[in-house]
Amino acid sequence: MEDESIDNIKRMEVVASVLLPPGHVFLVHLRDHVQGFNQYERKWRTLPMTNATLQGAKGAYHLQFEALRFSKYWKSQKRSAVRVSLEDPDELIDLIDMGKQWEPSISHSLATSLKLSTLGRLSKVQPPAGLNDDAKTLATQLTNRFLLTGLTIDTPDTVARTDASTVGTNKGKENAAFHHVLFGAIKTRTVGGKTVKSRDVREKIRKGELPQLPPSKADGAPMCLAWHTKGICNPKCPRAADHAVIYSAEEYQPLIGWCDLNYPKDE
Ligand SMILES: [Zn+2]
Repeated sequence: MEDESIDNIKRMEVVASVLLPPGHVFLVHLRDHVQGFNQYERKWRTLPMTNATLQGAKGAYHLQFEALRFSKYWKSQKRSAVRVSLEDPDELIDLIDMGKQWEPSISHSLATSLKLSTLGRLSKVQPPAGLNDDAKTLATQLTNRFLLTGLTIDTPDTVARTDASTVGTNKGKENAAFHHVLFGAIKTRTVGGKTVKSRDVREKIRKGELPQLPPSKADGAPMCLAWHTKGICNPKCPRAADHAVIYSAEEYQPLIGWCDLNYPKDE
């Protein structure tokens, strides 16, 4: 993980090359970044983190560095009618070469949800095989998250495609930006051997046995539990307005807090 973050960017490039037209700014940025990084690989491998306990999380910091720029890019591209440019793909390398601070600040809550302290420990102790796989899974999830928060925010054609795919079906609509890192465990949580259903949780809220869900950033009415914690919901959901907005990990904190306190669990 520590040295393999570039593989995640490469995977992202493969997916982006399918979704985006050739020569798209985002695609070009990814390619140039990968190329620059390949030449820098030896130096990257020996690069110490400012905080030695986070050495194993170096790759996660690299991905976060890029993710912040991707998110800024897609946000401003969404607001703009003309092509917006991305930061220099070699920005990270330049900062390191000039001895400047490059490590993005990662809030405590985000670090916890990304299990950064676990990753940090991986570099010190030879981890059991299971943990290594865990780090790889996490890296893949991080990639998916970046991809999805990036690519689904904009590009009208991907939006159109998503809508078209649900036309004519009565099946649930899938949340393409489902946050596996934050809600994967809630999604599969069981009580008494059975997976918890959103419908049953909502019923408890309705009866006042559980507090109301946090407000949606779309309209201030309660967030849609199924959409965010199960990754699927009915297109006719009364809270469909909340399906239409993308949340960052930070913005998910109220819902995570709600689930920590209230989501049904085995006693
Ligand atoms: Zn819903």
